[in-house]
Amino acid sequence: MNAMLSAALNQIKDTSLLLSEDYEDKKRFKKAIEIVLAPQRVIKGKISITGKGGKKKTFQAFRIEHNDARGPFKGGIRFHQNVSQDEVQALATLMSLKCSVAGIPYGGGKGGIIVDPSKLTQEELKNLSIAYAKLIAPYIGPWKDVPAPDVNTDGQIMSWMLETYEKKLGMQAPATFTGKPLELGGSLGRTEATGQGGVYVLEAYLKRNQKLETRNSKITIAIQGFGNVGYYFAKIAKELRYTVVAVSDSSTGIYNSKGLDVESLGKFKESGSALKAWPLKQGEKLITNSELLELPVTVLVPAALENSITSENMEKISAKVIFEMANGPTTSEADNYLFEKGIDVIPDILANSGGVTVSYFEWVQNLSGYYWTKERVNDELKQTITKAFLDIDKIVKAKHISYRRAANYISIKRIIDAMMLRGRV
Ligand code: NAD
Repeated sequence: MNAMLSAALNQIKDTSLLLSEDYEDKKRFKKAIEIVLAPQRVIKGKISITGKGGKKKTFQAFRIEHNDARGPFKGGIRFHQNVSQDEVQALATLMSLKCSVAGIPYGGGKGGIIVDPSKLTQEELKNLSIAYAKLIAPYIGPWKDVPAPDVNTDGQIMSWMLETYEKKLGMQAPATFTGKPLELGGSLGRTEATGQGGVYVLEAYLKRNQKLETRNSKITIAIQGFGNVGYYFAKIAKELRYTVVAVSDSSTGIYNSKGLDVESLGKFKESGSALKAWPLKQGEKLITNSELLELPVTVLVPAALENSITSENMEKISAKVIFEMANGPTTSEADNYLFEKGIDVIPDILANSGGVTVSYFEWVQNLSGYYWTKERVNDELKQTITKAFLDIDKIVKAKHISYRRAANYISIKRIIDAMMLRGRV
């Protein structure tokens, strides 16, 4: 079992010890936990496309539906050479917990294809997306399972998949996929939603934790990963006058103790260049990704891939608080260590739930056929995610537990209560 899946399952087991007090019928509770530990359905298959020169290429694909007691399965599709069934299961499980903690009416799912998309032509990528949509078509739909983009997938890929699905169905069904381009029913504000949601949580966290500096410019932030999530987190935080001192991509990190010009760095990345090609300005220097994680900043934001804070580097973490904008960036061992050391870790299922929350708004807009302004999307996001944070913060303070344990406690309780109401246990 891979580290991420075992971390996800350990979190559920650990939370069950805390939750058990709330349920009189221990046998029924134990059965409910067993259900939450396993996915409801695993869809798995080999998909083939005809590549350049007529050569057949075959890829392993997955869609894992974890739990739908609170609503349709919801979760992204990842195209990556290191995707595995365990990883997809871990991410699907985290999606159930995330939707529950965010207070949106969905269960969790996740999809993936083992592929390095940078090695495919645009035509091959399109054909791969179509083949994948055909594989999962019987299982998806607005009230069944609603996929979305994740690492290396985007609005264009959702559009190809939507077209494939609607052709099979014989009718329009835009609420089947979220993360679509605006032209096909996407929501305003979705592109920046995950970063924006993270910053709303940061604001709510700082208001509740006065021990940290109160002037925004005194709060320093280091961000690992400068893609969709990392860039918008940095940009919005900077607009609010927080000092973003470091960002990185897979090529390198860039540091400036006085704060970086996030907009220009974003434009540079958008032009297709890696950060290592950035012409350094006065006060800036290159740092490695490991150095970035160890900076003595107020807020450390892992926003790249999983397992970046581990037993290898946990003792060197000097940030006051960690915002997990990536999914699963902290291993269980590191998480326990950081709690003992008094470093708050705002867990992924809360910190990055802005993306799925605005996906939910997209689905609501598609189902009603009425489209919101960006101001309305952001207002509703702020309300939803701030409430999610405050619900957790209350448990943290009352039970003296970590934000992760409190988030897991709330989310698993909501899932179990829904399963019990349905009579599944
Ligand atoms: P992305 O592909 O746009 O960006 C990923 C960034 O991470 C890139 O800058 C890349 O260079 C960098 N990176 C990759 N490997 C790295 C490494 N080893 N060290 C340092 N940097 C590295 O992806 P994204 O959409 O920004 O997603 C990032 C994370 O956030 C993922 O864990 C994803 O599951 C999670 N997430 C994304 C969303 C969303 O709405 N996009 C929502 C919730 C969670």
